[in-house]
Amino acid sequence: MRVLANHRITRFDAWARAAGPGKSRFPEVFDTLPKFRILAFAFAAMMLLPTGIAAGQDDQPSSTQNQPITIQPLSTAQPAETPLATSGLPQVLEARVSSTADRARLVVDLSQQSEFALVSLSEPNRIAVDVRAERQKAVDQVEPAAPSGEGLIADYSVQQLGSERVRTTLELSQPAQVQQAYVLEAFDDQPARLVVDIIPATPEVFAANVERDLQQASSTEQPTPAVETVPGGSNIAAQSRPLIVIDPGHGGIDSGAEADNGVKEKDIVLDFALKLQDILLESGRFDVALTRQDDTYLRLEQRVMLARQNRADMFISIHADSFQQPEIRGASVYTRDENATDVLDKVLADQENKADVIAGLAAPHMAPQVVDILVDLLRREMRVQSYLAAQSIVHQLEPSVELRRFPVRQADFFVLQAPDVPSVLIELGFLSNNQDAANLMQGEWRDRTANAIARGISTYFDDARTATQMADTAQ
Ligand SMILES: [Zn+2]
Repeated sequence: MRVLANHRITRFDAWARAAGPGKSRFPEVFDTLPKFRILAFAFAAMMLLPTGIAAGQDDQPSSTQNQPITIQPLSTAQPAETPLATSGLPQVLEARVSSTADRARLVVDLSQQSEFALVSLSEPNRIAVDVRAERQKAVDQVEPAAPSGEGLIADYSVQQLGSERVRTTLELSQPAQVQQAYVLEAFDDQPARLVVDIIPATPEVFAANVERDLQQASSTEQPTPAVETVPGGSNIAAQSRPLIVIDPGHGGIDSGAEADNGVKEKDIVLDFALKLQDILLESGRFDVALTRQDDTYLRLEQRVMLARQNRADMFISIHADSFQQPEIRGASVYTRDENATDVLDKVLADQENKADVIAGLAAPHMAPQVVDILVDLLRREMRVQSYLAAQSIVHQLEPSVELRRFPVRQADFFVLQAPDVPSVLIELGFLSNNQDAANLMQGEWRDRTANAIARGISTYFDDARTATQMADTAQ
């Protein structure tokens, strides 16, 4: 690892171009603060990890991503025959809410894309989501099935306000804020959808949002249209610029999987990684580096070392492998199997290397036993962080692409073993499945998937920061 120190600098020169408008971030700015602030939160989360997330039994293609849509979109061919087409306004077809203690999501199905506005209201605490649309009248699917009553959203209702506005009012069981709001175009059998993600907020943040929206409302009659959250962006202000290291799998003599038509995994994942890098850089919230930017062969340990040496805040390996069963399809996100043997353990046997892992966290000349404990703590925390990152990414992939059954998985992937960098491996799909292979070669699918992953990355960092903020307030 010592030898790699110089290597790091030269790599980083190569990466400067990749960093584009974002700043190249150098290792000395390793930010110990968030990592330790979220320790308590991380351990609490670990206790809540569902068991059996890696259960791969009876693996079947997933079709759980959305409820079937019972209402046909408007037929533009025969507008006179359908009473719904009279105004030409988008129609709200259905609204659904899912809610847990940590987050909630409102999905509004639309006959076509439309504008929306977000308003925070107090007494009682609510978030109202307005869509420029009219409510679907022919078949009343809009009546919500009430959520369980637990979690962030206590109840919600949908109503037509005036002739051009449909308002979904979310009653909050605690102060909350909009994390992301965006409109997805219609694709496959899915209609256009407005997706609004909501997470807890401190009372102060919520009160400030209510005040802001009140002032806006007094100056204009209609709520100001909200700006869609860009992929990789957030409605919550960022405080730092995390470094994301993207690792396109395979390369050079190692082609990875191959589709029937000869397209190679190494080329697909490189193209995808470059796209993801562009999206993340454009959001202005991240520094981004790639382990390879061309058709280069890299050893697995080099990939891990590049992330570690540069103090990456997240490592994302991108693959599109083959599977023995060609019917298996869909995207999935892996974290490292807890029972996997770490090859790095051999490296870490050297006390000096251990000290290197916890550099910045420990005082110099610490007793070896203390160093051991710290390394172990850090590694356990990274496991939790990796799992949370995988969950965030899957949560954003969910409305955008076909997911594999049990999409958050664990496996013994060598590249996921950094003890100090949250690491995930994304299987975009399987080249052994014809539908997946067709998708992987389709620009529109790749854009949508890369956008969703960028959203997942930004929500992961938001959540960590919000959790810290909430913990501070609670004290
Ligand atoms: Zn692969």
